[in-house]
Amino acid sequence: MHRIITLFGALLAAGSIVIAEAQDPYAAPRKAMLETIAALTRETRFETGRATLSERVMAALDKVPRHRFVPSGEERYAYDNRPLPIGHGQTISQPFIVALMTDLLDLKAGDKVLEIGTGCGYQAAVLAELAREVYTIEIVVPLAKEAAARLAALGYHNVSARSGDGYRGWPEQAPFDAIMVTAGAREVPPALIQQLKPGGKLVIPVGPQWSGQELLVIEKDASGKTATRKVLAVRFVPLTRDRQ
Ligand code: SAH
Repeated sequence: MHRIITLFGALLAAGSIVIAEAQDPYAAPRKAMLETIAALTRETRFETGRATLSERVMAALDKVPRHRFVPSGEERYAYDNRPLPIGHGQTISQPFIVALMTDLLDLKAGDKVLEIGTGCGYQAAVLAELAREVYTIEIVVPLAKEAAARLAALGYHNVSARSGDGYRGWPEQAPFDAIMVTAGAREVPPALIQQLKPGGKLVIPVGPQWSGQELLVIEKDASGKTATRKVLAVRFVPLTRDRQ
C-alpha cells in the first residue's frame, strides 16, 4: 500500500510539473536559472561572504517573468546566465549578478528602495517583490518610458519610474533604506550616500569604464558613518551623466 501511495504521489508530482510547464513554458528554464545562480553563489562564497542567497530573494527570482523584460524574439535566451542587449547600447544584467546584488541589500518587506539604471525594469521588478516601495531612474528616456509601461502592465504598482540622471538620486523621495546602482560609476555619487538612511545599504559597481570595476557594499551606521566592503570584480555599462 505504501508503495502504491508513493508511486501515486510521484505520478501526481510528475503530472503537476507537466501541467505547470503547459501553463508556463518558461517554468523549466527559470528553475535552471535558479540552480545556476545557487551554484555560482557557492563558487564565489569566499569573495562575496555568502554561500547561499536568502529564500526570499530566490522566491522573487522564481516569480518575476524575465522573458517579459527582454526584446521580443529573445525570450528563449531570457533565463540564460548572461546579459542581453535591450537597445540603446544597454543590457539587462546577468541573472547571477541581479541575484547577488539584491541579496546584498538584505531587504525587509517594509523597505523603501532606490534603483539607478532602470534599463528594461527587470531588477526593479525583483526589488518590488521584496520591498514596499521602489523608485527607479533611467537616463535614456525611451528605455525609461518602456520600462514604466512594462512594469505597470505586469502589475508592479509599487514601482515609481522616471527618466533623469540618477547620479543625483531622487531627493524628493529620500531617505531610502537601500539603494542599488546598476551601471558602473567612476566614484560613489555623494548624493546617494546622503539619501541613504542610517542603517541602510548601497550596492554599487565602481571603477574605470567597461573594465576593472568592483562591486561595493557601503553601509551607513546609526551615527551616519559609512563602511565600504569590496565584494566582486564585475563589468557594467557606464553610469553616464546628463549635461546640466
Ligand atoms: N537594472 C537594469 C540594468 C540596466 S543596465 C535592468 O534590470 O535591465 C544600466 C542602465 O543604467 C542602462 O539602461 C543605462 O542607460 C542606465 N544609466 C546609465 N547612467 C545612468 C544615470 N546617470 N542615471 C540613470 N540611469 C543611468
